Amino acid sequence: MSKLEAGMEASVRKKEISVPKSMKAWVLDNPGELRLTEKLVPKLGPAEVLVRVDAVAICATDVEVLTKGLPAMIEGGAPFNKNFTPGHEYMGTIVKVGTGVDEWGIGDRVAVEVHAGCGRCERCRMGMYTSCLNYGLNYGEKNKGHRANGFTTDGGFAEYAVNHINTLVHVPDHMTDEEATLIVTAGTAMYGLDALGGLIAGESLVVTGPGPIGLMAVAIGKALGAQPVILTGTRDARLNLGMRLGADHAINVRKEDPVGAVKRITLGRGVHYVMECSGAPHALNEAMDMVNRGGRICLAAFPAEPVLVDLAKLTHNNIYVFGIRGEGRSATHRAAALMAQRRFEAKLMHTHTFALEELPTAFRYFRERIEDAIKVVIKVHG
Ligand SMILES: [Zn+2]
Ligand SMILES: [Zn+2]
Repeated sequence: MSKLEAGMEASVRKKEISVPKSMKAWVLDNPGELRLTEKLVPKLGPAEVLVRVDAVAICATDVEVLTKGLPAMIEGGAPFNKNFTPGHEYMGTIVKVGTGVDEWGIGDRVAVEVHAGCGRCERCRMGMYTSCLNYGLNYGEKNKGHRANGFTTDGGFAEYAVNHINTLVHVPDHMTDEEATLIVTAGTAMYGLDALGGLIAGESLVVTGPGPIGLMAVAIGKALGAQPVILTGTRDARLNLGMRLGADHAINVRKEDPVGAVKRITLGRGVHYVMECSGAPHALNEAMDMVNRGGRICLAAFPAEPVLVDLAKLTHNNIYVFGIRGEGRSATHRAAALMAQRRFEAKLMHTHTFALEELPTAFRYFRERIEDAIKVVIKVHG
């Protein structure tokens, strides 16, 4: 049998993946209340595929959705008591394709971007689908085709999910399900580096805050050739992980003033870029003291309350500040390519695995950082 025939046989065999009529899914009742229930396996529209969820990671934004609602929005309002399934950092296997879909086939392993976007507004047309002007308009007469799974449409804390083909990212055979759930986080870090100017070989980068996005920003910045890459934070375990992911220097801000440390390392010059991933109230002011004149700062996190900012310093020093939302402009594909090439060990960030039924326990590990939990993954199938 030739390779081609073997391949064809394999694809015929894959077309036999059976799909049940109903599935297990978690839904959000009142704030903070998740309930495991049975739902019908969702139907497909054109340009959509059905993904069997193999693994899904918990993200800080899921905690926001569970407790506060926003940024999730169902039928124009809060997502509570609407039979809504959260969860957005998932990966899985395509088990069914909608009409006209020949870009992907049954059996393909995929990670997913969160935002499909409406595809018809000005921002979507620019590739900025995470800033879709029709966010949340995906129901009834106001349906503009927008989808953000886990935010405005059902997400991945379930056995199956519907995804638009624009949200799919190929997962190579050698990558585990758990590691593939990190692709979307890597995509957000990549999008931040895009905002700062893209290719940064030989340029210097500070990442403030070693949460999942900050750690990914370190890994991707280094994979793109940034030098030096300096990570700041408060916890040694996270900072050490940052060093393993590619940081040249890690500064514990409880032991050393971070601005002084950056000046020391760069011989007084400051850095080209700061990626702010801490959300600390003073972070932007400090970042302005870390970059050189004409430097660029990207805000990937934000404080809970409004903060005072020294705007005169910003202007006098021609400093650029950007805010990013999500992972637009197909940044996820570029981040996934670096992971597929094993440019860094993303799987170091995965610390815990639970079954679908154990979701509340998994959330507890994530929120309370039990056993230094970073990325807590729910293994749904396989
Ligand atoms: Zn997330
Ligand atoms: Zn749009």
